[in-house]
Amino acid sequence: MKEIEKYKSVYLRNRSFYEEEIWRTGTGVEYYEGYSQKSPGKWQHFYGSTRLSDYDYFCPCCGESEDHWVDQGNGEGYYSCGGYKTVTTEEVQKRIAEFETRRKGDDNYVVEYREK
Ligand SMILES: [Zn+2]
Repeated sequence: MKEIEKYKSVYLRNRSFYEEEIWRTGTGVEYYEGYSQKSPGKWQHFYGSTRLSDYDYFCPCCGESEDHWVDQGNGEGYYSCGGYKTVTTEEVQKRIAEFETRRKGDDNYVVEYREK
């Protein structure tokens, strides 16, 4: 078993937007990219932020700043971009390594491992 497979999820947090003028209405916003392990070695990739509104909407599946949800009524629907992607442990590790490189010396980039 790979080291990270003992975790339920991994969050790559980007806090570098905190001081931007555009976010100065409240406490600031934090963007994250996450991986949630749905079954051994299979991770669901998602995007999110600590504050969602019409103003800063983006797709949780692909991270694009568009609403890809197609509502078919009765709570049914789908994402026009194809929905959440599933990736392997190797891909998650590669992404973490890239993120670790970028965050060197920058406290705004945080990696969080969750066991639940
Ligand atoms: Zn999308």
